[in-house]
Amino acid sequence: MDVAGRLPRLRERLEAAGCDALLVTNLANIRYLTGFTGSAAFLLVGQSTLFTTDGRYGDQSSEELGAAGVEAETAIGRRGEQIEALEKPAKGLRVGVEAENLTMALKEEFECVGSRLVPTAGVVEGLRRVKDAGELARIEAAADIADVALAQLKERLASGVTEAQFALELDFEMRQRGADGVSFETIVASGPNGALPHARPSDRLIEAGDVVVIDFGALVDGYHSDMTRTFSIGPPASAELVDVSDAVLVAQRAGVRALKPGVSCSEVDAACRDSLELAGYGSVFLHPTGHGVGLDIHEAPAVAAGSADILEEGVVVTVEPGAYLTGVGGVRIEDSLVITATGARALTKSTKDAIL
Ligand code: ZN
Ligand code: ZN
Repeated sequence: MDVAGRLPRLRERLEAAGCDALLVTNLANIRYLTGFTGSAAFLLVGQSTLFTTDGRYGDQSSEELGAAGVEAETAIGRRGEQIEALEKPAKGLRVGVEAENLTMALKEEFECVGSRLVPTAGVVEGLRRVKDAGELARIEAAADIADVALAQLKERLASGVTEAQFALELDFEMRQRGADGVSFETIVASGPNGALPHARPSDRLIEAGDVVVIDFGALVDGYHSDMTRTFSIGPPASAELVDVSDAVLVAQRAGVRALKPGVSCSEVDAACRDSLELAGYGSVFLHPTGHGVGLDIHEAPAVAAGSADILEEGVVVTVEPGAYLTGVGGVRIEDSLVITATGARALTKSTKDAIL
């Protein structure tokens, strides 16, 4: 990963963002720009770069910034000392702040930094949309771990396990296979629980005839994967869910086919939505089609109706249509894909055969 090349690219964006320097508070953005993986830091990027953190991270930050080849002044100390250090290089400057991340409390503390604070949105996130080869390798490694873990365990779904037990085993399997952690709390939603798009795994026993939604991912060196598969334990008890299952698969293929450079994210959303509407399930597709994936599990671009984001080569997005029938169950199918010169390549590859 070329971390050191990112600060110059950010500097080029400051003028358009209406500021002379950007005060980065979002930790994923700080990690992206410097390689720092700790839980507290500020980063001021203007003509020069100042990185501040507290005493817990003195050694770690100098190691990580050094390994990434990032040149920055550093100030290590208590919060007040960090803010004092930020005042000097920011003197007289319009200082951009990350409006979606900055708390009211922190904003008050920053009032003394620069001539004024300028709210900005998505400046670093915009850079993060296109992944470099090192980032893609990490997301792909995370996706591979999730694929192998599911293949290894999915027969267990038919062996009389609870949702919570299966989720635990899946998480354990991913860790065993080299994941640093899980991307987010694994979703295993069976029977009527499948109607809740973000159900929590419960003590419900998974039984023959159940349709089970499994949404999960692995974390590798800060990068996430995201995949959903829906399996039926033998023929589904609900005939309607057979129809829903076919419709969601067709919609997911339509969304994937729409992916290529130059296409707007709203068009990709429309491809899935139109397909499900045609099948009669438009009103029970309860969420946007997808999202970017990288250092955050949900990041730019938003694959949603009304999204002006345009796809380009190297962007990683999910396509995850679903349909949810209250009291009956649900179906969602999700892949993470990277946009290529001519289309998209799936990073998640598990079988979509619905019947276990
Ligand atoms: Zn997911
Ligand atoms: Zn997702």
